[in-house]
Amino acid sequence: MIKNSTIKETAKNLGINICGITDVKKLSVERERLLLRKEKGNWPQPFTNENIDELTNLALHLENIESTIVIGLNYNNLSSANRFLSAYITKEDYHFVLEEKMKLLVHEISNKTGRVLKKNKNYKIYVDTAPFLERAVAEKAGVGFIGKNSMLINPQYGSSIFLGEILIDIKIEADKPLDIDCGQCRKCLINCEGGALKAPYYLDVNSCISYLTQKKGMLSFAERKLIGSHIWGCDKCQKICPYNNISTDISKKSIDPALEYFDKDLEYFLTLDRKNPPEELKDTAVMWRGSRILVRNAIIAAVNLDKREYFSLIKEKLSDNSPIIRFYAVWALSELDYNRAETFLKKQLNIEKDTRITDEIRIILQGGN
Ligand code: SF4
Ligand code: SF4
Repeated sequence: MIKNSTIKETAKNLGINICGITDVKKLSVERERLLLRKEKGNWPQPFTNENIDELTNLALHLENIESTIVIGLNYNNLSSANRFLSAYITKEDYHFVLEEKMKLLVHEISNKTGRVLKKNKNYKIYVDTAPFLERAVAEKAGVGFIGKNSMLINPQYGSSIFLGEILIDIKIEADKPLDIDCGQCRKCLINCEGGALKAPYYLDVNSCISYLTQKKGMLSFAERKLIGSHIWGCDKCQKICPYNNISTDISKKSIDPALEYFDKDLEYFLTLDRKNPPEELKDTAVMWRGSRILVRNAIIAAVNLDKREYFSLIKEKLSDNSPIIRFYAVWALSELDYNRAETFLKKQLNIEKDTRITDEIRIILQGGN
């Protein structure tokens, strides 16, 4: 047995900004909501595990589980982020930073309880990979409340927090959920950049810019336009949230240096050596989908910002070994400066082997773009 307050004090000493504890009762309200959404064919998002039992029952994930400890680490101040990358892209991949903190916390718990705690037997650690409803568990643990933008919001730190969970076989007194919500505010719904927040707590991923920047493969013309200047993620529904604006000063003071913003611009991504990305980029969470998608999004952003000065840089991409990149380069050149692009597109038509690209060039040359 270990006290709730001891865990929190220990977490605080390890530089963990927020810590909450919950029991292992099923998430029955969320279960009903998910069943209804499944019935209506309105599943929350494509990345989510679709097993409703696993999503709403923590006991299925660790034998003898007694408690779940949820931690929150504050990342950068949203207002300092640039227009190209979401503020959660930090200098070091937050997954490792959180995992390290949670391992240390488990180590301390082991010392304080005098028990040897074995991974996967006595405890499990999750960062983003949780097969259960992470935000609902965090809400239950009193770490924050789920806002109408679907983000977990802590009254002190806003939604600029990374979440991690420790499932453990030690009984710890549970915290209560916070008695707080969005009230009458609808700012995120009104200002959603992609028009994806169709109703409170309802995010349509197909028009969410954050999702589109991570979607692999070919994006439709409408999707390319929707992406705007975003190379990775979109923070509009968070930036506009009063809870994030209140937390500005606190955020600055409490940032772990590893979680400072990875501040790179459009040119950085347009000139990226995809085969040999710089080490600093490899350290970030932005690489989880690979470097090609970053270059693709940078090309799209250059078009949407009408950055004609990058015409030559993009022209070099016509010889990229990825047909996806060549496809977007063809489209981008014609969008940026059709007259200048025409000669290069005709040359490309003669050497290009990929029919998706030759088809696209023909459409462009016929004025059908
Ligand atoms: S991330 Fe952007 S597009 Fe997606 S819900 Fe938020 S504001 Fe809308
Ligand atoms: S902007 Fe308003 S409605 Fe949206 S999450 Fe924040 S407080 Fe809630």
